[in-house]
Amino acid sequence: MKVCVDQDLCIGCEACPELCPELFGMYPNCDFAYVLTEDVPSELEKCAQEAAQTCPVQAILIED
Ligand code: SF4
Repeated sequence: MKVCVDQDLCIGCEACPELCPELFGMYPNCDFAYVLTEDVPSELEKCAQEAAQTCPVQAILIED
């Protein structure tokens, strides 16, 4: 599984790093998130999916 954040869509709500700090971070002084690792380890797949479902603007894209 791969994950990425569409930074054009992200509104910087900080939900994804709160839900899944192993995968997402926030750029300091910027209003968008980034992924720490594009390749999602199997133990974090559920977390990545939850973050994608929680994102209010569908900015988290998941690829199997
Ligand atoms: S949940 Fe979505 S909008 Fe919120 S910081 Fe993460 S990617 Fe951005």
